[in-house]
Amino acid sequence: MRITQVGSALVESSWVLIRVRTDAGITGLGEAYHGAGVHQIAVDDRLTRALIGRDPRDVNRLFRDMMGAMSASGYYQGAVMSAISGIEMALWDIAGQACGQPIWRLLGGRYRDTVRVYADCHAGDVETPESYAAKAREVEACGFSALKFDIDPLPQMRDRHSKALSTAEIDHYVAVVTALREGIDPATELAIDAHWNYPPVDILKVAHRLEGLDLLWLEDPIPPENVAAMREVKRRTRLPICTGENFYTRHGFRELVETQAADIICPDLAKAGGLAEGKRIAELGELYYLPLAPHNVCTPVGTCAMAHVCAAVPNFLVLEYHFHHDPNWPGYVRAADPGASPLGPDGHLIQDGQVRLTEAPGLGLVADDAHVQARLREDLGFLSR
Ligand code: MG
Repeated sequence: MRITQVGSALVESSWVLIRVRTDAGITGLGEAYHGAGVHQIAVDDRLTRALIGRDPRDVNRLFRDMMGAMSASGYYQGAVMSAISGIEMALWDIAGQACGQPIWRLLGGRYRDTVRVYADCHAGDVETPESYAAKAREVEACGFSALKFDIDPLPQMRDRHSKALSTAEIDHYVAVVTALREGIDPATELAIDAHWNYPPVDILKVAHRLEGLDLLWLEDPIPPENVAAMREVKRRTRLPICTGENFYTRHGFRELVETQAADIICPDLAKAGGLAEGKRIAELGELYYLPLAPHNVCTPVGTCAMAHVCAAVPNFLVLEYHFHHDPNWPGYVRAADPGASPLGPDGHLIQDGQVRLTEAPGLGLVADDAHVQARLREDLGFLSR
């Protein structure tokens, strides 16, 4: 079997879908993180020359060869690694179909056949504790056992160069998170994302006042690039700290893990290197007993692909899901095998806050090309060769 073509599609919400075609009639589906230019890099012949004519089942070797081919283009991070990640997913889909096995089995078998997802929520236009709590109850009622909300800069802060928080702003965040925690079932887990916005001195003031609320985690409390500063924040609060969505490959996670600068790691497998590299990152974290909670803003393609890894690692905690209120989200895929579909009766990948993995070969999904076509921004060989 040989790879004959790599195609990409940029669709609404800047999602990047990848399709790898072979001379055996098998095509693989993947998804890359939505960075600028990623759909163009994925089909750039400086990258695809590492793939065309090669056996797609040599996934790990091709992953290294793609990095080697892009060594002059920042091969281990950024948009290049996002493109490589999406292609790597598609190679696993091909490998699974070729041997009639699901990806989770090729990754060593599963620890679980359902993968728990949490709903990342947005409070809406009204920035009050009551509006946050109302949204939380609405999403919780759909069957999610874990929710996440953001504490992003308030409107009055957005034109301010300094991210320093006033006492009133700290009071506001504490009121929001308290209203969320008290507004939902005590058994429903609650995570809070600070989106890298605050200096340690300020986010620690918020964190210390939230320590009694039994949060699942506080995510990205400070900017991501200084691991020593992250470790200090982690050391100084009892809130579990989750970070990692800005890091690429296991090398990007090494210092974070080895210095134990986080309690939970959240690689985004659509940018950090794909599925096998995601498993390697999980195993790196497991050396220090760190749970894995992958970041995910993908369509059902990338979400399902990540779920295969989540099933295959012992330290999985929960997988992110962003698009609870997007009616177009489910339609990007159909079941490849209706007899072993990971999709529910309504065609949605998420059922009661879970992804259910099956025995369907590969990813278990195919793209719905008509749905893609209707939401297409640019086709670079995904729909048309
Ligand atoms: Mg985040």
